[in-house]
Parts: sequence; C-alpha cells; structure tokens
Amino acid sequence: MTKNKLIGPFVQLLTMDKLPLKGGLKDSQLEIIPNGGVVVCDGKIVRTGNFDQLYSAYSGRLTVDHIEGAMVGMPGMIDSHTHICWAGSRANDYSQRLAGKSYPEITQSGGGIGDTVSKTRAATSDELEAVLAERATTHLKNGVTTIEVKSGYCLNTIGEVKLLEVIRKANQKLAVDLIPTCLAAHIKPSDFQGSPSDYLARVVIELLPEIKHRGLSKRIDIFIDKGAFTSEEARVYLKQAKQMGFELVIHGEQFTAGGVAVACELGAASVDHLEAIKDQEIQLLAASNVIPVALPGASLGLGCQFAPARKLLDAGCSLAIGSDWNPGSAPMGDLLLQTAILGIFEKMTSAESLAGITIRAAMALGLNDRGILKKGFLADMIGFPVSDSREILYHQGSLKPSAAWKRGAIFKAGEKGITGKQEKGWYFENGSFSR
Ligand SMILES: [Zn+2]
Repeated sequence: MTKNKLIGPFVQLLTMDKLPLKGGLKDSQLEIIPNGGVVVCDGKIVRTGNFDQLYSAYSGRLTVDHIEGAMVGMPGMIDSHTHICWAGSRANDYSQRLAGKSYPEITQSGGGIGDTVSKTRAATSDELEAVLAERATTHLKNGVTTIEVKSGYCLNTIGEVKLLEVIRKANQKLAVDLIPTCLAAHIKPSDFQGSPSDYLARVVIELLPEIKHRGLSKRIDIFIDKGAFTSEEARVYLKQAKQMGFELVIHGEQFTAGGVAVACELGAASVDHLEAIKDQEIQLLAASNVIPVALPGASLGLGCQFAPARKLLDAGCSLAIGSDWNPGSAPMGDLLLQTAILGIFEKMTSAESLAGITIRAAMALGLNDRGILKKGFLADMIGFPVSDSREILYHQGSLKPSAAWKRGAIFKAGEKGITGKQEKGWYFENGSFSR
C-alpha cells in the first residue's frame, strides 16, 4: 500500500524553483505550473507537475487531497526574524510615539524594552508558551509555516534559558516549525553592574555553554547600534560564539553604521534591518554570502524609512523579508501585508517579494530543505483562493491563504484543529484554529 498522496489540482502552482539566490528577479523567471499537482510521501515532495499526468503516472496508486474550486499554490512562507516570545503589551509606548514622544522619553517614563524585560522575567513558562503559541498560530493561519523566534527579553542566564526552553516546548507541540535564536545580546540589561563588554563576557561564560549543553539553539544574534552594542564589543562576542560553533546573525544598520561590516567580516548568516545602510555597505554585502533581511514591519511601527530593497537587489545582493514581530517597534506581525507594502514602495517585482519570504528566507536561516516546491523538499505549502498568482500581492495582504500543508498534512481555514506534524500531536484540541 503506497503512502503517496497527490495534492491538487492548483490552477497555478508557483514552485519558486530555479531562481538565483542573489540579485534582482523578473516575474518571467517564476516557474508556474498550470493545473499543477504535488506528490507527497512522508512529509516530503516526491514530484511536482501537471495534476492529470501525475494521477495517470501513478495509475491511481495514491490518495488524493482534492482541491475544490480555484486555488494558487506556493511554498509556505518563512519568517526569518521575529521576537514573538514576550509578555505584556507596549500599547502605551505606541500611543506616546503617536503623540510625538521620542524613544528616550518613552524609556524614561517606564516604557521601552525594559518594560518588556521585567514583564517577561516575571511571566511563567506556561504563560509564555501560551502567548507564543497564539502568535505562532496566527502566523500559521496567515500562511507562515516556519518561524524564527529570538529570545532576548530576559537578559540573564536563567531567563534566557527559560525563553529558549519555552520555544523548544512550543515547537514540539505546534504544527509550525519554530527556529530558535539566542538574542541575549539585545541590550545590556539595566540591572547588570558593569560595562557592555562585561555583560557579553558573562553571556559567553555562563549562558552559551548552557545553551550548547541543552541543545537549545544553534544561532546567536546581537544588536549593533547606538544604545545597544558597538562593533568592537560585538566583534569580540561574535568571534567567541563562532568558536563555540554558533551561527551568527546581526541586527545592523537600523539607525547607525557598523553591523554590516562586522557581518561580512565574520561571515554571518544574515544581517537584518538595514534601514540606514549606505552605498559602501551595500557593496560589501553584494560581495559577500551574507543574506540581508529587510524588516518593513519595524519601519511601519516606527514610522520611518524602509530598507533600500531596490538598491540592494540592483547591487546584486540577496534579500529576505522578515516581520520583526515584537512588542515595541513591530507589533503587527503580518508578514504578507508588510511584504506587499515594502514591494510597492521599493518597486520590487512579485518574484523578488515572494522569494524574500520563501527560498531567500530559508537561506537566511540556513535551511536548505524548504522554500521551494521541488523533489526532496518539505511539503510545506499554502493555497490562495484565486486563479492568478498576481492576486497574492495585489490585495496587499488582505487575501489570506485558505489552506496550508505542513509536511504534507493539510489544515484548512474553518476546520477544527491543526493536523500538521501529526507525530507531535495536536496543539489546539478545541478548534481554536477555526476562523
Ligand atoms: Zn529584531
């Protein structure tokens, strides 16, 4: 008895295959299979092609996930940058920002990241797991099947381990994949007595070995900018982390220069933000293998400029797009909407925008098993209830997927429960996935 399953027919199947990792993309480079189908076995893609031909080729020796009505299929979206494991709300900060207050003024009046840190430290693991699961499920309903999640809201050894343990536990229960990153180097916490370098040295001595020992994360992130860490401080920290075998990620060039040069020098996987990047740093990135990640959600949350996506692509850089979903600067958490907005302001082609949240985002996370619909890749797919792939960005984020498959297991809008990743069990047993 074969375990093969044929999913389709899709009016159009957008594979995101055969695209270069770097540089600008034309829409004519998109591989679109009309009347497409995907054969899946054990959570992985076996074949893609014409639905009817696939059905005949297996002469019925497969089960069929038959799609009723028009649907355009594409790889599940990948969000390569989030901070969705936090407690509390920063609505008060936001209202003050709307009223014209500056970030230092907001911080002085008890807001800012310090507020999130004290509430996240005080929260129990169960409370944090519940809010993380809720946000991750919202993302999944919106078509995001892999989510990077950073720690960084406890900023001490015990708390950062707590956050990474929460992320691991949620990942074991949820259908969506959570990719954990240690961001203990977010800022120096206000209760740490000593310099920023002393704080980073403490992280290296106390926290990083614990993360290794428990197998909690393979990735280390640091915020290089004014008010966070300098390039010099970061360089020492990152070199030590790299020696311990961690992959490096950098928050850079959000407000001031520094992060990109360090990222290129030390061979980081990605450098994220880039709202303030200058031409010289764009050239550095173009000549490197570091993936730039634009975070339009932070620009929308702060009311400031976008990363120069067009310039980066024209210079020959790759470009992933992340939501930066966090309580302070990017509370929205809608990756497709943000991608559509960045695309129209920066004049990105549909191919460039969609690659930024699929294959290029996978590369930013060092994951070479997803982001494309092709043989051997994970059967992580989403379907939009339209007949033309251009509709996806045209609706600027208001068009949501009506079905998604995680490792080949389907969950549909309106159905009870998430059946993805069944080997890990169901997380929402009472139908909280329905909408
Ligand atoms: Zn961030």
